[in-house]
Amino acid sequence: MQVYEKLYIDGKWVMPSSTTGIEVTNPTNEQIIGKVPAGGTSDVDLAVSAAKKAFPIWSKSSIEERINILNSLSNEIKERTEELAQTITAEVGTPIEYSRMAMVGTPRVVTRSYAKILENFEWEEEVRNSLIVKEPIGVCAFITPWNFPLHQIIGKVAPALAAGCTMILKPSKEAPLNAFLLAEIMDKIGLPKGVFNLVSGHGSEIGEYMSKHSGVDMVSFTGSTNAGIRVSQAAAPTVKRVTLELGGKSANVALKDADPILVGKMAISGCYQNSGQTCSALTRLIIPSEMKEEVCQVIISRIERYTAGDPLDENTRCGPMVSLKQQESVSNYIQTGINEGATLLSGGLGMPDNLDSGFFVKPTVFADVSPEMTIWKEEIFGPVLVIATYESEEEALSLANDSIYGLSGAVWSASQEKAINFAKEMRTGQVSVNGGHFNVSAPFGGYKMSGNGRELGLQGLEEFLEVKSIQL
Ligand code: NAD
Repeated sequence: MQVYEKLYIDGKWVMPSSTTGIEVTNPTNEQIIGKVPAGGTSDVDLAVSAAKKAFPIWSKSSIEERINILNSLSNEIKERTEELAQTITAEVGTPIEYSRMAMVGTPRVVTRSYAKILENFEWEEEVRNSLIVKEPIGVCAFITPWNFPLHQIIGKVAPALAAGCTMILKPSKEAPLNAFLLAEIMDKIGLPKGVFNLVSGHGSEIGEYMSKHSGVDMVSFTGSTNAGIRVSQAAAPTVKRVTLELGGKSANVALKDADPILVGKMAISGCYQNSGQTCSALTRLIIPSEMKEEVCQVIISRIERYTAGDPLDENTRCGPMVSLKQQESVSNYIQTGINEGATLLSGGLGMPDNLDSGFFVKPTVFADVSPEMTIWKEEIFGPVLVIATYESEEEALSLANDSIYGLSGAVWSASQEKAINFAKEMRTGQVSVNGGHFNVSAPFGGYKMSGNGRELGLQGLEEFLEVKSIQL
């Protein structure tokens, strides 16, 4: 059991205002594996005042000091890779190899990328008779989800540290344990007290309170679109900056000259990463009607590689859903797809054959999905791939853009140039062309109801800066 009784505020581990806790469940075996405090509003007040007090110090820290802190943070994450990966696999159910690589490896590299960005960042520039100065925005509140828990935390913490901001983090209640390990790391690397504060608790209570707090200058939220809307509403009266990283229903489009075998193979991994619990998952596969048979054959022949299983088994590629609630929600969507008349190619309702406990679902594929169906429109957040066909490439584009979301996407073509042109027409924040890999230095964020603002890279740093013009 990993039990944390204290919160990390002002450089110290302190008892929370209430003794209520939040239990953490391992979704693979349904056992309680940890407990963290359910912090209250007075704990948030303490954390905000610590962050406010630390701001004049950290905002004036030298660039060299910030680079050293970011490099130490990255080194410590590397040092504790196995512990962090095991913790995240235990609380989220992510297959262990993917945990090491994506859940811990990516935040380590993101942290280092901000040390690098700082080496050459221009804080001042002259424009005619003005000196333009970039300054840290102030005290930031971070509200994060469970699906890539440490990555989503570091996507905020690393650029905020680089910018000179101070912060209060509220991790998700499903996967908070990695955030406590991170606080231990922050304590060790010599960050001035009050720069980083951790208050765990319930979103509807302290998440909303942080969003409306007059001592907070910016709230950066990652999670569901509904909670993001609540955060924006709560933040509006204080006119603080709000950045939102929300849901997605991303399109994976094969143009007519694409290789059907490659499209079929990559469609599965693009959708089922982290057991489908990925905001940027490529969940809508859009293929020419004449390619349907071949692509579906490839998918069916390869899907057993994603048979759900124990995430601690090095060969498992699909683990459980994070919670009973998520298992029920994904199962309801599978039922809805069946009711709406989509063709079930693989998977379906019930537990996978080899398992009788844990919050598992069967990796599922539906073909003949049309735009009025719920499973086409709504984010399922599980291993459910939906396939639609098109006749013309104009129709393919209109299907790709037929979503309230616009977070990610992919396009496949024998011609790189044609694929790039198609990518430019997609109303979405990221597009992979012919399998182009995720880049930690490229901005990540959404169009439409997938959010506002960008994380990662230079743009991710600029979100944490104010811009001042000094006229000379
Ligand atoms: P969620 O919205 O339920 O919770 C996210 C965080 O918000 C948690 O810390 C939660 O406690 C808090 N919260 C909940 N209600 C709140 C409120 N009213 N006010 C303030 N905070 C509140 O989301 P989740 O289930 O943890 O995560 C899944 C969702 O996150 C999916 O929709 C997914 O697409 C999205 N997501 C988006 C990105 C991205 O970068 N765009 C990344 C990961 C996840």
